[in-house]
Amino acid sequence: MEYSGKGVSKGVAIGRIHYISQVMDKVEKRTVEDTQNEVKRFEGARALAATQLGELAVTTAKKLGKKNSLLFEIHQMMLEDLDYREAVRAKIRTENACAEWAVSETAGEFSRDFAQMDDEYMQARAADVLDVSRRVVEILLGKQPRQNTFDDPVILAAGDFAPSETAQLERETTLALLTAGGSANSHTAIFARTMGIPAVIGLGDTLNESWDGRQCALDGETGRVILDPTEAEIEAIRQKQRQQEAYKQELEKYRGRESKTRQGKGIKLFANIGNVQDADLAMTNDAEGVGLFRSEFLYLESKDYPSEDTQFEAYKAVAQVMQNRLVIIRTLDIGADKQAAYFNLPAEENPAMGLRALRICLQRPEVFKTQLRAIYRASAFGRVAVMLPMVTSLWEVRRAKELAAEVREQLDGQGVAYDRAMPVGIMVETPAAAVISDLLAKEVDFFSIGTNDLTQYTLAVDRQNQSLDAFCDTHHEAVLRLIQTTVNNAHAAGIWCGICGELGADEELTARFIEMGVDELSVTPPAVLPLRKRVCEL
Ligand code: PEP
Ligand code: MG
Repeated sequence: MEYSGKGVSKGVAIGRIHYISQVMDKVEKRTVEDTQNEVKRFEGARALAATQLGELAVTTAKKLGKKNSLLFEIHQMMLEDLDYREAVRAKIRTENACAEWAVSETAGEFSRDFAQMDDEYMQARAADVLDVSRRVVEILLGKQPRQNTFDDPVILAAGDFAPSETAQLERETTLALLTAGGSANSHTAIFARTMGIPAVIGLGDTLNESWDGRQCALDGETGRVILDPTEAEIEAIRQKQRQQEAYKQELEKYRGRESKTRQGKGIKLFANIGNVQDADLAMTNDAEGVGLFRSEFLYLESKDYPSEDTQFEAYKAVAQVMQNRLVIIRTLDIGADKQAAYFNLPAEENPAMGLRALRICLQRPEVFKTQLRAIYRASAFGRVAVMLPMVTSLWEVRRAKELAAEVREQLDGQGVAYDRAMPVGIMVETPAAAVISDLLAKEVDFFSIGTNDLTQYTLAVDRQNQSLDAFCDTHHEAVLRLIQTTVNNAHAAGIWCGICGELGADEELTARFIEMGVDELSVTPPAVLPLRKRVCEL
């Protein structure tokens, strides 16, 4: 029987399904005489759940970084919440009800209340209160916490996974994930991609308890799910699996190797990241550095301007994860398609050509200087560089450097440590910057070409508009010439030049980039080893 869902994390899997049922739906109301004892039972289970969550926070922090473990700390706090506790106790006392029913009822009520709130952050707590309450109910029912680790690897299936569950998954015993609900950016999908577990979501009601224990073959790329597959169907998936395994195996040869052609021409292969977890991925994929840390994700994930300390912690964490490999932090590239409400940016007719990136930073120096301070402070903990996006004119770079000098002066005055030689580079992603790259090269320590924007501005093709695909020739000679000009001008001034746009991963152009003299390519972490293979084979 074949089903079709949304493939959100690549890879294939064949195995037995373990369906995780929703325990809370099945709790029955039992009458109890000794309500005082029942309150004690509840409090005992609640305390144990809190301890488990504390342990989970520690192991998750180690496995996936502090940001992912924060949620369990929030869950722990929810269990301490006096309103929640009192609501459960009141239900036990007034209704002579068993603790598990009281918890389940209270969770339902709190969850509905959260869901109806205006604030998005509070709405998101609706799932959390159900998640923590489920843990308490399981303890009260004497069940093991939902088992997410198995002796034999299984395909885990559920209506959806709570964040705490996905974070506990063991890569070794989880073949794949299947869910009835979920979206491409749900926790389930994000965790699956981060951990490299194949996943198909959005299978709807057809995915239910009756799938438990059955054989399944699935493809996390196409979203194809085959229940009780025939030998021939299994063989077809195995075939794809063998191809993927062989390819992965082959890539292993390139781990730890220099990215050099047969003639001995080298190029650095760096990774593009958006957060600390991606930095771990950059390391596991053997990236030689981070060529683009899109710092704006810190801003996009926040409800308000992230503080200097919040930013400092994030930059420092990335610098430390990358050990002595270079980390290029791009300053805020907000505006155009990346909007954060609290910036209160004016509505624009043409936002891609409007107030974005460095332009905002120069108009709001305090926001910019806060970020620069955080970056400079982080530079004391690894090899850090800073990069300015969306440059068109010399004066912008000069003004940004003046602001950086003010920040350094402040730090000096306060005796704060930082790397005095921290390189300052720019993105070359406007035709103007490419054309005057000879002048710009005298102002900075390196260039990184942002081909995504350079292509949109050079070809006058909006990168968000899919209907213009036919006009968006990514190999257009105009763009390639601008790249060549930029590289030449960089080298003439004695600085290096990389590419951090998507074009960097285009293996059809690798030979050409090397011929042009490009010094570095920065690509998504999983693209690093395939690209190194390509370089070494040239
Ligand atoms: C680019 O424009 O090529 C680039 C790397 O930056 P972003 O995609 O974030 O605009
Ligand atoms: Mg760009």
